[in-house]
Amino acid sequence: MLECQVCPHHCRLTEGQIGVCRTRINKGDEITSLNYGKLVSVALDPIEKKPLAHFHPGSMILSVGSFGCNFHCPFCQNFQISQVGADDITTKDVTPFELAQLALDTRERGNIGVAFTYNEPLISYEYIIDTAKIVRAQGQKTVAVTNGCVTRYTAEQVLPYLDALNIDLKSFNPEFYKKIGGNLSTVKEFIVSATTTSHVELTTLIIPGENDSEEEIEHLSQWIATVNPEIPLHISRFFPRYKMVNKEATSVRKVYALAEIARRHLKYVYTGNC
Ligand code: SF4
Repeated sequence: MLECQVCPHHCRLTEGQIGVCRTRINKGDEITSLNYGKLVSVALDPIEKKPLAHFHPGSMILSVGSFGCNFHCPFCQNFQISQVGADDITTKDVTPFELAQLALDTRERGNIGVAFTYNEPLISYEYIIDTAKIVRAQGQKTVAVTNGCVTRYTAEQVLPYLDALNIDLKSFNPEFYKKIGGNLSTVKEFIVSATTTSHVELTTLIIPGENDSEEEIEHLSQWIATVNPEIPLHISRFFPRYKMVNKEATSVRKVYALAEIARRHLKYVYTGNC
């Protein structure tokens, strides 16, 4: 039996057993990543789509994702890849060197590096580190789009290799995080750590009846301001997905109203999906 130290689930795994995230396994008395170098999605995206508004605006970034996640959000916008395991999906083997080379080959199309996104990338942090070393050596950037719910150990391993992150701050309610398999205090701690090493922007997806009270957004933005009032916050609009197909999309008016509340405390607040 081994205990995985990557995220707060701390899965205790017997030989051959796979963790809650479906990406880490106890194999040969060692916990390793099942999706190392196994990509599901590859796209050259505008950096604003991550979203990152203050990191090389106007550039493109080679965005890649695999399968698995340590969260189980019923509203997941990428559930087809985040909520499946290795046997459920077709992947393409891409070594860190091959991925870095692809980033270099797309430089002429405005690409500044590699973004690990779509599923939860930090649970497979070894692939990020191995790729980032090459990407950095060739003068390009590494980005992660993450739920930020990993242990201090994982943060210390991976943050020095990340030039920028967009971190979800999904709610300011600990109960909300519990329901999706996360932990608010871990995410807050990760955000604070990330600001000491990297450029950080945050995203809050507003879901009707779940995290859309004015009071919650007031507290959330107040807390961000205590870290740094210049951290950009992206407040984005929910559309019915996955296990929340029967919920209405968030009204644009609601998103704009909550953004105004956040602007009382933060210098840069953006609205998304509106
Ligand atoms: S990374 Fe995966 S296996 Fe490790 S503790 Fe988290 S959910 Fe469990």
